[in-house]
Amino acid sequence: MKEAGDTSELLNISGLKATAQRIAVLDAMRLLGHASADDIKQTLESSGKSGISVATIYNVLGDLKQAGLLRKRMSANNKMYYDITVSDHCHIYDEASHTITDFNDTELMKLVSGYLKNKKIANFDLDHVEIQIVGKFQKTK
Ligand SMILES: [Zn+2]
Repeated sequence: MKEAGDTSELLNISGLKATAQRIAVLDAMRLLGHASADDIKQTLESSGKSGISVATIYNVLGDLKQAGLLRKRMSANNKMYYDITVSDHCHIYDEASHTITDFNDTELMKLVSGYLKNKKIANFDLDHVEIQIVGKFQKTK
């Protein structure tokens, strides 16, 4: 997750005009880490910014993705969500809470990416690898 730096500055560096809506959505993403448009809507509403529609949030998310500030991903329950961390990393999907968390295992990522690069799938250009580990966290007593 990006911690330091001003959100409007980050937008400008990425070639986007720092509109109030883009700042609000990117701030929410920096807070949430992984979120759907609906999650962002809820977060904005709870912080008193209810004037931004879900359709607008989708548009802004598209702009942010295009600028390389977010990655679009799909969770194991077929829900589209955005990720503030754009580098390759693994995810853990908890079937009980339907939440996504980062699982930083560079060795696993290297292993799979390296394997697939050497394997060469016929008529297929590998762009990147996404790994999602699905299961349930044990309840702590
Ligand atoms: Zn992630």
